[in-house]
Amino acid sequence: MQREQELANLADPTDLADLALSPAEMRAMGEAVVARSVAHLASLSEQPSRGDLGDIAAFCRAMREPVPEQGSALEPLLDHLFDELVPRSFTTIGAGYLAYIPGGGIYPAALADFIADTTNRYTGIWQAAPALVQLEANVLEWLRDWMQFPATTRGLFTAGGSMAIFNAIACARELHLGTEIRSGTLYVSSQAHHCIVKAAKLAGIAHDRVRTVAVDRDYRLRVDDLERAIAADRAAGLRPFMVFSSAGTTNTGAVDPLNAVADLAAREKLWHHIDGAYGAFFHMVPELRPLLEGLSRADSLTLDPHKGMFLPYGTGALLVRDGAALRALHSSTAGYLPENQDEFYDPAQYGPDLSRGFPGLRVWLTVKLFGAAKYRAAIAEKRELAVWAAEQVAQIPGIVIDALPHLSLFAFHVAGRGIETLEQQNAATQSLMECVTRRGDVMLTGAMVGDRYLGRVCVLGFRTRRAVMERCVRQLAEETAALLAAASGRHG
Ligand SMILES: *Cc1c(COP(=O)(O)O)cnc(C)c1O
Repeated sequence: MQREQELANLADPTDLADLALSPAEMRAMGEAVVARSVAHLASLSEQPSRGDLGDIAAFCRAMREPVPEQGSALEPLLDHLFDELVPRSFTTIGAGYLAYIPGGGIYPAALADFIADTTNRYTGIWQAAPALVQLEANVLEWLRDWMQFPATTRGLFTAGGSMAIFNAIACARELHLGTEIRSGTLYVSSQAHHCIVKAAKLAGIAHDRVRTVAVDRDYRLRVDDLERAIAADRAAGLRPFMVFSSAGTTNTGAVDPLNAVADLAAREKLWHHIDGAYGAFFHMVPELRPLLEGLSRADSLTLDPHKGMFLPYGTGALLVRDGAALRALHSSTAGYLPENQDEFYDPAQYGPDLSRGFPGLRVWLTVKLFGAAKYRAAIAEKRELAVWAAEQVAQIPGIVIDALPHLSLFAFHVAGRGIETLEQQNAATQSLMECVTRRGDVMLTGAMVGDRYLGRVCVLGFRTRRAVMERCVRQLAEETAALLAAASGRHG
């Protein structure tokens, strides 16, 4: 009752220009939000793996609204959000979310964001909050050490992997091409993430300067094909300047031959970027490092803490081995700002943002609270679960494994009597993903790879433990059996 009273006071019309809230109001509002958020998390096991998206277009059309002239109370707004909007989505934080590359939403990060937003200190330039900026610099150095990059490395936090890649391309372009951008060519495999071509375009590298290199039977970049493409471009008078490899592709989880690409890049004097948006954090676990051998040789590396560190969306990161190159791209001065300094990390000198949020705090608070050992155990467990599940799924009659888990993702398709043509197999595999997802415990998505549709399971959510993987395997077996029975029934 008291809370309602306090919230209603917000609509006090006597002092329209006053936007500051009293301590009691702030506490009441904060408690209301925490109560809703925690209740949401506590009910996760009852939420479907994919929320109700029936007739969602009509729902969205009906949502359009004019700007409100008057404020309203908080509770009805929270009702609307938590009861109407949040449930109409993929349950990305659920234990059963095995689709795409799972994210996280680990709780301490939300608390860190709350602190960052309420204190709202300026972390764009070092002088405005030197100690807070140092804290972010420390976190970037943790990432650097986990990836075994050298002391010359500098990095930056970005909104996600896509923006990390954008900054890497701009950095390589500036260093290798200078103002002669049109002659530069860039190389990706056919399995590289689509955001690279988009980032290249943003960074001034047009699509006709992006070469797509073939992959081998394990969906890994073919270095011989890369070498041929580079030679052809050189012969045509172009300037190859950058090559991408993947430390875990999104489609099948393939890890490219990182060492071989690094060797070639060194020989050809190309900037080698490794996209570790999905896989880089497996490098945190010393026993798993051989799976990513060569990762620490990259000129730059994408990391996505909002995937492999289970953080909420909005945290990507870039590491650049030659920190001076990153600084050369971003460094700038202004008459109204303090002189640049060289001793300490300075966000605006290493990234495109000036005013910015404080992304380092969510990583810092989470790692400080849990400790690195807990992280390593969780990441190692996700891989073990994927390896175990792949072994089980491989034994299901009617399932053909296309990619075993290199890290924590495996891919497969359905085949059997009456499911013989590629078209039939694609339809059956797609149907399998949908049938399992509709049961509500796990959410699975597939991917077109060439002309084949592959089913996928990717384990990377911190809530995903053994029990949900057992359910996933059981449901894949039951739904595959049903598909086979229906198909062989149709064919007599
Ligand atoms: C997710 C992902 C990206 C893109 O990162 P965002 O954080 O979504 O921008 C790039 N590459 C790979 C391999 C990914 O899994």
